[in-house]
Amino acid sequence: MKSLLLLCLFLLLPLRAVAGEHLEDVLRDQRLHGFRSVAAAMERLRNVDDAPGPDAPLDRRWRYQSAMLDLALGGDRAASVKASMAALETMATDEGCVRCRFDVLLARALLAVRASTPAAGRTYLDQAAALLARLHDDGAREALLTAQAWNGAVDGRFNQSIELALEAYALAAHRHDEAAQIRLLASMIGTNADLGDPRRAIQVGEEAYARADAVNYRALMGTIALDLGHAYSLLDDRPHQRVALERALALSEHDPDQLDTRILALNNLSDYYLSQPGQDQRVLDYAHGADDLARAAGSEIDRAAPLANIGIALGRQGKLDESVATLRQAIDIAERHGNTTYVIGITQELVRILEGAGRDREALAQLHKADALEADLTRQQREKAVLDLQEKYAAERKSQQIAQLSAQNQLKQAQLAAEGWRNRLWIALAVMLALGSVWLMHSIRRARQANRRLARQSSIDPLTGAYNRRHTQGLLDRLQQPVRRRADDSAWNDGTGLMILDLDFFKHINDGWGHAAGDAVLVAVAQRLRGLLRQGDAIARWGGEEFVLVLPDTPAGALPALARHVLHAIGDAPVIVAGQALIVTASIGAVSFPASPGQGWEAALGLADLALYQAKASGRNRAFCVTRVSADAESSRLARDLAKARDAGEVDLEMVPGPPAREVPVAARERVAVSA
Ligand code: GH3
Ligand code: MG
Ligand code: MG
Repeated sequence: MKSLLLLCLFLLLPLRAVAGEHLEDVLRDQRLHGFRSVAAAMERLRNVDDAPGPDAPLDRRWRYQSAMLDLALGGDRAASVKASMAALETMATDEGCVRCRFDVLLARALLAVRASTPAAGRTYLDQAAALLARLHDDGAREALLTAQAWNGAVDGRFNQSIELALEAYALAAHRHDEAAQIRLLASMIGTNADLGDPRRAIQVGEEAYARADAVNYRALMGTIALDLGHAYSLLDDRPHQRVALERALALSEHDPDQLDTRILALNNLSDYYLSQPGQDQRVLDYAHGADDLARAAGSEIDRAAPLANIGIALGRQGKLDESVATLRQAIDIAERHGNTTYVIGITQELVRILEGAGRDREALAQLHKADALEADLTRQQREKAVLDLQEKYAAERKSQQIAQLSAQNQLKQAQLAAEGWRNRLWIALAVMLALGSVWLMHSIRRARQANRRLARQSSIDPLTGAYNRRHTQGLLDRLQQPVRRRADDSAWNDGTGLMILDLDFFKHINDGWGHAAGDAVLVAVAQRLRGLLRQGDAIARWGGEEFVLVLPDTPAGALPALARHVLHAIGDAPVIVAGQALIVTASIGAVSFPASPGQGWEAALGLADLALYQAKASGRNRAFCVTRVSADAESSRLARDLAKARDAGEVDLEMVPGPPAREVPVAARERVAVSA
């Protein structure tokens, strides 16, 4: 018996030795099937029989390190990434391995993408692209295209990113690299969703999921399911969203490399249940799960979203103090990590809870904070959109020629491409390139539309940087509520100052100096007004050359002094436009609302407009301030004739003159006289 066992062992020993795997076999298998987890895939590579030692040929050593680097990057394993990059760097420097240097540059680019610094990423990608000509290697081209696609997606160039990914996909299909094709499809789920095409995102995502499932590429299935969940949520397809998220949760369960996926899946499930009435307990369970994991992993920013959901659910359960405390904790975290979008979103939830609890003062303070942050963010986004657009036009013009040249070539290859999806995608690419110019026009139009939409959505007037009318109406609506409540307590008389201001003889500026000069005057006036305002005051562009100033906590008695400041700020010094000094004056109507108990802001502004009319009619460059409205004054009579109402003692009007008329420089006087 014992000798039989020994014999078996003896026979098994050499068997074990030959049963070890070869590097090329493992790489081929990973191309065809992907892998179960990054950890397992790296382990398998480390254990190959023919792992190249220091004396192995350069080509084999490069293949080994390059494959290790790819896996380590995919699993976000900093130490392994560093080790492989160092090994490749040494081969590049000591042995002149160009492909090694190329891989290091791509790795640097991907690390930059992951750190959300796409500009740095682009620098490395450009250096890698310069090396590509020396490599003549489709694999390298595919890797570069893939990295460029990721960079584009992080940089908000979604169209371009998809185009690059499709190009890389075609090369991967040509090499029969199923795993790379699945990775590329997976990367396009988020890009299509971000581009505003969730249907396409779902189509690509379901294909990626089915193909990953067919070859058992489990390491990727969790993130694919997560992205699909997001895409379904954009279409408001709740049942599919839940199925996808539950899949992501199950798939990420036992793989430490997928901790991020798991945290997101838990958090997104809590989001999902927030949209389902009566499911607050589930919201809390999932959000606590996500928060616990993020805290254990030491990833503080990942706690913000789950804590926000916990706060909302607690609020719905009536636990207001706990809810407010949790939301504030979430806001603190988002602020510490500089995530303004989170801060705004969570602050708006906090406002809702505070309002519900009747804590109006706190609610209003938070609302102001969210509004200010939102305005700032919109401005930044608009600036970035403009810069991006300029850069995009330049890049597209450059690449258009290249695209057209390679279009015919690509068409021929398309006929050779594989069946089904692969084929359709390839043809789509070829047609896209062949119709390069048409596409260019289309994408320019789309970018313009997006830009216009952005401008529309914004709360800021793009010319002067003042708030626009829509935003200001909202602000006044909100200001009005607590003021009305105070009115019932008969403590309303500190009020909100409203000044409506119209530039005098503005048409003359346009007629005499051109529309651009008129625009420059509007910008200068807005700037001068801004210089006067206190914290909490707002300036709005109400119409063409009409501004409204909203001045919280300003009683009627304070209006004349303020109006004097405004008139002088505008009229004291001429506005210099293209070397010419233009004298600009304004007329103003001012009230403090509520001017009578319970008066709404629309009525108050109407009254200010009548006062403005008095200022215009009596010679311009002056303000009329309504300093008192008698209790028995009838609003319809006021509206008919303010001067008569004053004579009848129903209102007090105080006239404030603007700065005395100044000498207009000779050059300006010859062409236009714009002063009152
Ligand atoms: P008044 O003293 O009676 O107000 O005289 P006015 O010339 O200013 O008359 P009014 O207020 O009716 O004219 C406003 C002019 O402002 C008409 C319009 O062409 C011009 N305008 C409106 N929006 C803009 C703009 O965005 N830029 C420029 N440059 N002009 C504008
Ligand atoms: Mg006007
Ligand atoms: Mg005017």
